[in-house]
Amino acid sequence: MRRAGNGSGPGPAGVGGLAGVPGLVANVQHFSLHDGPGIRTTVFLKGCPLRCRWCANPETQSFRPEPGFDRGRCLGLKKCGECLRACPEGAVSAGADDRPDLDRKKCVRCAFFACRNKCPTGAWKVFGDLMTAGEVLEITLGETVFHQRSGGGLTLSGGEPLAQPEFSRAVLALAGQAGLRTAAETCGCADFGTLGMVAGGLDFLYYDLKSLDRARHFELTGGDNAPIVGNLLKLRASLPGLRLTVRTPVIPGLNSDEGPAFGSFMRELPGVGYEPLRYHRLGGGKYRLLGREYGMGDAKLGPETWREFLEGFRRTYGGDGRLPDGFPAAAAAGSSGEKNSPPVRH
Ligand code: SF4
Ligand code: SF4
Repeated sequence: MRRAGNGSGPGPAGVGGLAGVPGLVANVQHFSLHDGPGIRTTVFLKGCPLRCRWCANPETQSFRPEPGFDRGRCLGLKKCGECLRACPEGAVSAGADDRPDLDRKKCVRCAFFACRNKCPTGAWKVFGDLMTAGEVLEITLGETVFHQRSGGGLTLSGGEPLAQPEFSRAVLALAGQAGLRTAAETCGCADFGTLGMVAGGLDFLYYDLKSLDRARHFELTGGDNAPIVGNLLKLRASLPGLRLTVRTPVIPGLNSDEGPAFGSFMRELPGVGYEPLRYHRLGGGKYRLLGREYGMGDAKLGPETWREFLEGFRRTYGGDGRLPDGFPAAAAAGSSGEKNSPPVRH
């Protein structure tokens, strides 16, 4: 059995007690193909310190469980109305279209989420389940045959895995004991001690960097990119054996002119992969479930803008024609590489 991780993760002491460490999980995605090498079991943790305007996983942003409501699945209050009667806080009321309305200020996320538990159709969902590290491992081990055949494994995503460091560390330690390959996706927004501790238990890390311009990064994500960039450089120096890929979601009109800047930046990080990710709108429907506005309007990333980003990167990355691992293969041959680009998560 192989020991996962790069050798500097949590040691054997205490691993036995880690199965009971609790964490808040938004979702477990099975058979994922875009969250690391091979077929992955991807665990989306709740809570993120950033608020990217295009976030495709808004249900993971809050650090608390939260209800979501899918109007299309509701039978209507005249036929049912169970949720309205069940809510102890009066947070559910009769809406104009015979569907319930939720007053999120009144909702106290009551024990067991009475609205969800009474609903016969699954129209109410709860984003955020308390799970133990041992439970996550058990689910993941159920898919071992796919991991083994594909070179895949377990991926921690979010939300932000570094925002629940003890849980992430416990899951990774248990996965390492079980011989699973491990990966994570991070926005890098944490103190370096936390990043180093979690990264030490990984085989592979996706590190998202949204803009190299500090003021713009603030505007787009609500966070400072200085510690994020600093962490990346320190991580590279302190864990040179960790497979690391930087990713940039290319967002039209927001950072899509930064191809040359990212090319120059990545040139100074030899051996680190780079994946530009095409903006998409797949997370838009989730904002409706959460009663929130999608912050990107009807923005679209056209092929021309995408090509310009890739060309700008190629121009400044280096003169010998080599490109980092993960860069769209067709782009290396001068086309837009559209088919090679996986969907953006963050
Ligand atoms: S979670 Fe509880 S308090 Fe909130 S809307 Fe549902 S029933 Fe009401
Ligand atoms: S319990 Fe479900 S189906 Fe019934 S009214 Fe509420 S949301 Fe609609």
